[in-house]
Amino acid sequence: MKIFKFGGASVQHAQGVKNVAQIIQSHSHDNLLVVISAMGKTTNALEQVIHHCFHNTGEAHSALKTVFEFHDGILKDLFGEDDLVGVSDIRNLYLELECFVDNPNLQEDYDFLYDQIIGYGELMATKIVSNYLLSQKINNQWVDARNFIQTDSRHRDARVQWTETEKIITNRLLPIAKKNLVITQGFIGRGFSGETTTLGREGSDYSAAIFGSIMGAESITIWKDVAGVMNADPKKFDHAVLISELTYNDAIELAYYGASVIHPKTIQPLQANGIPLYVRSFLNPEAPGTKVSADSSVISVPCKIHKSQQLLLEIRTRDFTFIAEDHLKQIFQSLSENKVRCNLMQNSAIYFRCVIDNKENRHQPLMNALEALGLDVTLRSDLELLSIYHPQGSFDKQTDVGNHNIVLQQNMGNSTHYLITA
Ligand code: ASP
Ligand code: MG
Repeated sequence: MKIFKFGGASVQHAQGVKNVAQIIQSHSHDNLLVVISAMGKTTNALEQVIHHCFHNTGEAHSALKTVFEFHDGILKDLFGEDDLVGVSDIRNLYLELECFVDNPNLQEDYDFLYDQIIGYGELMATKIVSNYLLSQKINNQWVDARNFIQTDSRHRDARVQWTETEKIITNRLLPIAKKNLVITQGFIGRGFSGETTTLGREGSDYSAAIFGSIMGAESITIWKDVAGVMNADPKKFDHAVLISELTYNDAIELAYYGASVIHPKTIQPLQANGIPLYVRSFLNPEAPGTKVSADSSVISVPCKIHKSQQLLLEIRTRDFTFIAEDHLKQIFQSLSENKVRCNLMQNSAIYFRCVIDNKENRHQPLMNALEALGLDVTLRSDLELLSIYHPQGSFDKQTDVGNHNIVLQQNMGNSTHYLITA
């Protein structure tokens, strides 16, 4: 049993879907489970729909139309005008979305609403790919991932309920997957009340790892639009090189600091079960890419990871007393409750600083919560985080940071982090 995961960029147009079909065809696929993300930028487009829906702007339906037209274009290119195989499946999904957007009673909680709508991107993508494969005589079984990935009800950042998930995958999905090609979604799961949940943006890699680790897969392959894991983003830095092998620990560190090729939660279940992970290019499917495994050698080149849109929060007590353990406990609790992750943190006697992503305005409720606890919070924006991971090598501050001003610097043994002005 093998697991393949294809991201949104691999299926952003009909040609991409055909390419995915070819890659699947060229592997033995009666023992393969394929996880597919939403097509192209559909998840972002659905975020617009959710925004309009939640704020009742009256524009939700026109935002939905954009999503439908995009998918209709791909359907037309794949199946032609008259031969619309499986189109009724997609139309049914459109209809569900429309009904959902019409129903005002379900729109009280933003994160809940988000999860009910956003996963349609993956549902539509997988229906289209599955039907295209059938039209090419590649038999496959489409399954709804929500029936298998059981989570808690922490919307937009749901946590997997491993015992239940393991039971249902082993009893219900494994027997199907042993005999058939299975097409399913990443990113989505089912919460305590049967509602849709999601595992966090870009969470489909993690879904692939969940399926793979429970099913005892022999390997997982993430097909990307890059050659594999590089030591820097080739779009941002010259001289980026491919890392052909990585240990699980190195992969975890790189993903944690923001190397966007692998979702941070992906590695742990694979490491626990000793399952190798391949990161390969769907544009060049013959190339070997990167292998992440227990017997890989440790990285020998320094890696440079760049994160834009960073915020620095500086938290102090109002009376300038020490930031003590009880404050830290409250701060971490607020971070967790507001689903905000610290990319970097630092504390002194009188302040606690943390660097977070400027994402979905999540800092605002966090700041309100901290202020309600009697803490003073100042915010600095327009920052970037540069992390240099150099497990063995040295680093050169001048070449790394260039002319940017350093706002905060942290050295952590095998990595150095600079918070710099944009
Ligand atoms: N479609 C979701 C997203 O773009 C999940 C994923 O692609 O992994 O965040
Ligand atoms: Mg996606």
